[in-house]
Amino acid sequence: MNAMPQRKADRAIPSIAGGVMSLNRLMDPMIEFVRAKGAYLWDSNGKKYIDYHAAFAPYLLGHGEEKVDSAVVDSIRRGESLFGAGATPWEQEVADLLVDSVPGLEQVQLTGSGTEAVGYAVRLARAATGRHKVLVMQGGYNGWMDALAFNLMDPAAAVKDHRYGEEHKLRPITAGLSEAATDSVHVVEFNDLDAIETVLKKEEIACVVLEPILQNVGIVKPKAGYLEGIRRLCDQHGVVLVFDEVKTGFRHALGGYQSICGIVPDLSVFGKAVANGYPVGVIGGKEEFMRYCCHPDPSKRVLIAGTYNAHPFVVAAVSATLKILKSKEANVYARLESMGQQLEQGLNDLLKDRNFPTTIVRQGSAFSVYFMDHAPESWKDIALNNDADLDVRYRKMLIEAGVFHFPVTTKQGSISAAHTESDIEVTLEITEQVLDSLR
Ligand code: PLP
Repeated sequence: MNAMPQRKADRAIPSIAGGVMSLNRLMDPMIEFVRAKGAYLWDSNGKKYIDYHAAFAPYLLGHGEEKVDSAVVDSIRRGESLFGAGATPWEQEVADLLVDSVPGLEQVQLTGSGTEAVGYAVRLARAATGRHKVLVMQGGYNGWMDALAFNLMDPAAAVKDHRYGEEHKLRPITAGLSEAATDSVHVVEFNDLDAIETVLKKEEIACVVLEPILQNVGIVKPKAGYLEGIRRLCDQHGVVLVFDEVKTGFRHALGGYQSICGIVPDLSVFGKAVANGYPVGVIGGKEEFMRYCCHPDPSKRVLIAGTYNAHPFVVAAVSATLKILKSKEANVYARLESMGQQLEQGLNDLLKDRNFPTTIVRQGSAFSVYFMDHAPESWKDIALNNDADLDVRYRKMLIEAGVFHFPVTTKQGSISAAHTESDIEVTLEITEQVLDSLR
């Protein structure tokens, strides 16, 4: 269960190793997309799809958002090139916008991707604490770097003996990791505060890194008191708390999920929706941790560097996106919530009379249909109870009928501000037909 599908290509592409330009894009059926606008995708046969994949979620405002794209083009036309020296006015503006928007941000750096930003968070935490070990969540994805590339969608057979209150056996998500990575990572189940306490008492942990809602295995919400408990434990044990908000970030609120749950992490990482599809990562947080990037003692200094960091076209995209998200007229979050409610209600109505158990979990514009009878609280819960085969069949039938969800079990659905109420209605009509023939 849950293994990534083997590629079934109509055309072999021998010059691309693995056939796709990011191995997470492997899918069956293989579709060659050639165009996107707003809420829609078109493939090379001219077929149109309503898109709920949003390229793994960055397109919060929809594809080709005109103000964002114009800001990028205007910046290029003005000669705002990459200078690779000193600072620019547009970087300062965007840093101020980020710091003003998110409770946990006192200072920021822009990187090329979410993975890089999480990598810096771990280094800053190590430099600040003088410790090396990292605690992550089963079912969480924090990018592909060595320090964090463990225990994502492990099969039921592997997790069935996991005990709550204890840490788990490590299972890397990639070959080629260093031994040092394996020696320094600990993994516990999401929503298991006792397990975090067990590890923090036993090990010298530099940081706890978690998505505050697990959003790489659908939508797994934190139980009441869980995030507060982690904050308390981190404070007690001198551990840096890192929220990986690459997915939750600007999708749920301008202030990130931290502004909804009211827990302020020490360091935060963003990406995806903050630039509406342009390639970016943000690492930021309390000045007492961020200052390690310019620590006067070179042995404590964390090198945050990258030729393309804060590339002007990305900065223009972040700035334009944030201005739209802040604008009262655009009213983005209220619109997304209302379409999210419409879809959730409609799906619930369609699913309630079917003879298989389903549960819809939604946070604003992000949703997941689980083929199990309750909202999951952890990956173990999903692995043991979700009917992954039925989920994948459902997705494939939706794709066939023109509604695009990524055809891998539990992958999050994302509504964008470019969707309309009538897109949701059409989606529900198509879903009804799919459900009628699913069994
Ligand atoms: N963290 C989370 C929660 C993610 O979902 C992802 C990517 O999906 C990353 C980090 C890595 O971001 P990127 O793919 O931009 O490197």
